[in-house]
Amino acid sequence: MAGFLLNLFRSGSQIPEYMSDKKKTIAEPAREIPVLMETDVVVVGGGTTGPFAAIAAARQGKRVVLIERFGSLGGTLTLGLNTKPSGALLGGLPLEVWTLARSVGGAGPNLTVTTKTGDLKIASPCEPEIMKILLTKLCVDSGVQILFETFASTPIVENGVMKGVVIEGKGGRQFVGAQVVIDCSADADMATQANVPFTMGSGGSDIKMQPVSMYFTMSNVDIGRLVAWARTSDDIPDRTIPDTEEGYAYGLWLVGFKKTLKKFQAETGIQLRRERITLKTANGQMYVNATRVLDIDVFSPVQATEALVECYRQIEALLRFFRECIPGFEKASILQIAPVLGVRETRHVHGEYTLTGEDAIEGRRFDDSIAADCSALDIHDPSGVDGNFQSLRPYEIPYRCLVPLNVEQLLVAGRCISADQIAHGRSRNMPACMATGQGAGVAAAVAIDDGVTVRNVSVQKVQKILRSMGMPLHAEDIV
Ligand SMILES: Cc1cc2nc3c(=O)[nH]c(=O)nc-3n(C[C@H](O)[C@H](O)[C@H](O)COP(=O)(O)OP(=O)(O)OC[C@H]3O[C@@H](n4cnc5c(N)ncnc54)[C@H](O)[C@@H]3O)c2cc1C
Repeated sequence: MAGFLLNLFRSGSQIPEYMSDKKKTIAEPAREIPVLMETDVVVVGGGTTGPFAAIAAARQGKRVVLIERFGSLGGTLTLGLNTKPSGALLGGLPLEVWTLARSVGGAGPNLTVTTKTGDLKIASPCEPEIMKILLTKLCVDSGVQILFETFASTPIVENGVMKGVVIEGKGGRQFVGAQVVIDCSADADMATQANVPFTMGSGGSDIKMQPVSMYFTMSNVDIGRLVAWARTSDDIPDRTIPDTEEGYAYGLWLVGFKKTLKKFQAETGIQLRRERITLKTANGQMYVNATRVLDIDVFSPVQATEALVECYRQIEALLRFFRECIPGFEKASILQIAPVLGVRETRHVHGEYTLTGEDAIEGRRFDDSIAADCSALDIHDPSGVDGNFQSLRPYEIPYRCLVPLNVEQLLVAGRCISADQIAHGRSRNMPACMATGQGAGVAAAVAIDDGVTVRNVSVQKVQKILRSMGMPLHAEDIV
């Protein structure tokens, strides 16, 4: 199989001329579209963040519609096969979901991983298929109306106030009205179209963004043999190896393979794009984070396709690498390739406050904090050198980072909140994304109850509810 696939990719990707990005424009005729429903809160994007926003608002008594373009919830967490929050889940809904997952065998105990700045406590990976079911169940149980297989294409803004979103699906274009829209699309799709200012990646004339990757899983790995090798290898500098075989199901985390990768590439002439790769287990399966494509504008369909084609090329080559070079993988095969490209960074929305690298690294206190977070600082250098994964003191995420400039009744949560590129290295992690989703959901509900805009909501009331949910808001709240 390996040889056949290698031949497939030998000539490189072939993007036809007619898919050129440089196009003239056409005028789209205006038309009336039906109103599908009107509700209190619309959440766009049912990924890592959106379900937390939706459940939080619904549990505060609001009618919530959650719009997701695919047929399952969890986004990068589940479909992206990412599964591992790079930090502890400290309270509130994130901890509730993980506790539930643990109770049904869908996640393991917390792990301690070694980083160059010390040990970091993180939640164990989860089993993504179980997580899809749990997130769906929690949404349905709290009364959230999910719209799967539905793309939110355009926000409707009147006099500077967001009134809802146009959705697209097999049923054509329809409108879903809302008092508050929460943009959890990761790319700030709604905010951007509502003319909210943003910075793409690093900003500036030479935009740099963290690279994209595509996860895959492998079966038929002899984990015992891999562990025996890893314990004595000097090529795995960062690792968590459970003491017992039972712990291998969710607790194995190996980062490195630098020398072995270098030797493989020198001997075969095959180019892989990473210096270090990561293996981790969830439910006894091997999850591989090893592909990388630099300098991709994922909003260009041509470039996004090129990135996917390159990831497939790398995965095929990595199969050969693992089988030939890493003990335990001799009979391994690819079990699943994530059906979506893993995107680390695109737009950073400009909000009432922009979290800075200094805030996130020094752990500055904010009176309007909606979450204290202990996620790692995780920056994959846009130039392709080694990632920067560090354990740091807790930091706080102010509510103002969720409130975009220029438009009323819109909140953003998840990867695209108002944070600079360094701060985003922490706030893009899943514990922070889930916490901002939860904070946005509660804030939307409080604003509606009090008849005020989300910009003017009483943050003290929001914080009171978040505290009652067990969410730490300041560093000193973390036990
Ligand atoms: C390869 C990779 C490895 C990573 N590793 C880690 C790690 O080890 N630990 C960690 O904590 N974090 C990690 N991260 C970061 C983290 O996973 C993401 O930043 C986080 O999951 C983003 O959450 P989100 O909800 O903002 O986006 P997503 O989880 O991507 O969710 C966005 C959702 O919105 C939907 N959507 C988007 N646009 C629309 C639309 N217009 N209409 C309808 N639906 C829409 C999408 O289908 C998706 O379900 C990694 C990221 C990548 C890419």
